[in-house]
Amino acid sequence: LVSREHHAERTVVRVGGVPIGPGTMTLIAGPCAVETPEQTLGAAQMAQAAGATLLRGGAFKPRTSPYAFQGLGEAGLRILADVREETGMPIVTEVVDAADVDLVASYADMLQIGTRNAQNFALLQAAGEAGKPVMLKRGMNGTIEEWLMAAEYVAQRGNLDIVLCERGIRTFEKATRNTLDISAVPVAQRLSHLPVIVDPSHSGGSRDLVLPLTRAAVAVGADGVIIDVHPHPETALCDGPQALVDGDLRELAKLVRDLPPIV
Ligand code: PEP
Repeated sequence: LVSREHHAERTVVRVGGVPIGPGTMTLIAGPCAVETPEQTLGAAQMAQAAGATLLRGGAFKPRTSPYAFQGLGEAGLRILADVREETGMPIVTEVVDAADVDLVASYADMLQIGTRNAQNFALLQAAGEAGKPVMLKRGMNGTIEEWLMAAEYVAQRGNLDIVLCERGIRTFEKATRNTLDISAVPVAQRLSHLPVIVDPSHSGGSRDLVLPLTRAAVAVGADGVIIDVHPHPETALCDGPQALVDGDLRELAKLVRDLPPIV
């Protein structure tokens, strides 16, 4: 269903009216985790002022350590909904458990499936039935074929509004949090008609890498990028070192607007 063999034209997925697909270079930005109403609104206003059209923010956080901040759950979803009301930005937020899909879908404009759940087939199927577009991150240990097969699980349940997100994979290299597999973008676009975006924040894991990795994403022809931002990264409860502040985000947004894909 997601293969280009059966669907030659590349798909445009609309999230609350915002298109992601060929020719769009959609900028999605927001906090890694929803922490407080003020922090989320501050991040959203920063994102919107820079030109982002979709707001990201995690209410359910899949953390490596059980002692790390796990997210605010439904209270976080309510904050996101309030911020959408205030800014008009549609929301992209993660769901980590099949049992929560209906709840998250009742607030979200797009469901995010994270790298750790890239082969959680029950979750993928439930997301496929939720009636909302799905952003599917590549598993950190997953091949491109496994990623596309994960998308197939969503599509099989009747939902073809799927956006693939390359977010870096595990390699022997320790200098970056993950290794951004930039070649996955054109390969996935060749094999599948679905839009492919890049997450430079979770790939590099560090603020100074976000701009150069975004440059690479634009140059390779990605259909969008998803970026962590925070009004005060030094106090962030999740992934502060990779969050951009206002000036950095504006520079990145300008780059996304002005740099055409190199073809
Ligand atoms: C995220 O985007 O909040 C996230 C946890 O990303 P990933 O699943 O790619 O680690």
